[in-house]
Amino acid sequence: MTRQRYCVVGGGISGLVAAYRLRMLVGEDADITLFDPADRLGGILRTERLGGQSMDVGAEAFVVRRPEVPALLAELGLAGRQISTTGVRPTIFSQGRMHPLPADTVNGIPTSAASVTGLVDDATIAQMAAEPNRPLRWQPGADPAVGAVVTDRFGGQVVARSVDPMLSGVYAGSAATIGIRSAAPTVAAALDAGAPSLTDAGRRALPGSTQGPVFGAIEGGYQVLLDELVARSRLRWIPTSVTHLAPDADGWNLRDDEGQHWYADAVVIAVPAPRLAPLLADVAPTAAATAARIPVASAAVLALAVPGGTPLPQQSGVLVASGERLHAKAITLSTRKWGARGNAELLRLSFGRFGDQVARNTSDADLQAWAVEDLQSVFGTKVEPLDFLVHRWLDAMPQYGPGHRELTAGLRTGLPPTLAIAGNYLDGIGVPACVAVAGRAAEHVAKPTIRR
Ligand SMILES: Cc1cc2nc3c(=O)[nH]c(=O)nc-3n(C[C@H](O)[C@H](O)[C@H](O)COP(=O)(O)OP(=O)(O)OC[C@H]3O[C@@H](n4cnc5c(N)ncnc54)[C@H](O)[C@@H]3O)c2cc1C
Repeated sequence: MTRQRYCVVGGGISGLVAAYRLRMLVGEDADITLFDPADRLGGILRTERLGGQSMDVGAEAFVVRRPEVPALLAELGLAGRQISTTGVRPTIFSQGRMHPLPADTVNGIPTSAASVTGLVDDATIAQMAAEPNRPLRWQPGADPAVGAVVTDRFGGQVVARSVDPMLSGVYAGSAATIGIRSAAPTVAAALDAGAPSLTDAGRRALPGSTQGPVFGAIEGGYQVLLDELVARSRLRWIPTSVTHLAPDADGWNLRDDEGQHWYADAVVIAVPAPRLAPLLADVAPTAAATAARIPVASAAVLALAVPGGTPLPQQSGVLVASGERLHAKAITLSTRKWGARGNAELLRLSFGRFGDQVARNTSDADLQAWAVEDLQSVFGTKVEPLDFLVHRWLDAMPQYGPGHRELTAGLRTGLPPTLAIAGNYLDGIGVPACVAVAGRAAEHVAKPTIRR
């Protein structure tokens, strides 16, 4: 019997989980070949050394209220490496000063006027208090921009100072560009179910228990997980880009950017949406056109090591309201958030929002100068960096605009059974969603090939 051959295109967390799941499903004898032209595997998961410590300069955390990442770590024998935040909280920087992060919100959508008192003006508080009594028009199944709904019900300040800071952290987007069904799916579901006001929908949507940490991370950084996935999947890494995909007999013919051809019984494509379109152009032209319509944002992360003892507050970081005179959209006080692991204090600042060119066009020197300036403005502390590094994540963050769900449903239909897609533009941008989607993609292509 000939060995089964599987190809995975893209070596971020989506591709690596797909390769690992394939190995579990198809057994030791199959060939699993993974293509990625980057200098190392992991995509947006990237652990560097800074100030003598490990530091993630892409994703740094995962939501622990979703099961996927803790379950994967446990399955790989890495549960002992999972760490929690120290318990310190983030703040919001608005109107030139810091405010506590509002409690009891759904992705920044408040469920009472009390939670945003001090963050917004009195007129907004009055509008929010009266909101449950104003008739609400809602079309079940609708997916308007979350900003449009919240502005209408609670006013623009709530959007700029509570919702935008959350969404610019997650998507490098804003309430104007993200649909309510992606930003706050439980609120949309409560509105579909007949909630008479946004306040009521938010209350119904709040998780039953908000106790316990929201975020986890990995001691030693995401690299620990990546290494284990690579080892367990026993993949062969080809450091090239796949440029073309075509059906071939019972399977697939892939061409890479060095002109080499590769054959596979089944393929998982786990590249970012803009890179998917050309690969599907001949195989599934409608899906290719759909992928090309998903807008993307870029972000730059500047990681800094400063001397231990630098006076920084006991908080995990700062989310920046829109319209503030700061360059960064978010600041993470990594050492405060995860605990000290060395003498230096680590911080990271993120720059760039959907629609701007900041991540692409600003020099490393300018980003560093901006960071020092912003830290002085926010904390009143003049930091003296011991070391810094910049990483740019270009076109890396898909925007889950209004109607995104229908868009991605269209992407999947029309794909042949031995071809599946995975990635952060499908069912959620976070690492847990990527892990879930990649597992399903591996199962999807393994089934028909195992039966043969
Ligand atoms: C700055 C930043 C911070 C984030 N923070 C968090 C966080 O704290 N928590 C969280 O849950 N999520 C976070 N996210 C989101 C999350 O990290 C990503 O959505 C996720 O890692 C994407 O993984 P992926 O494998 O789908 O894509 P990617 O990581 O983008 O990997 C795709 C890979 O495909 C390769 N590729 C592209 N084209 C080709 C081709 N033609 N042939 C072969 N290979 C190709 C690329 O080189 C790349 O390695 C963050 C994202 C960013 C940008």
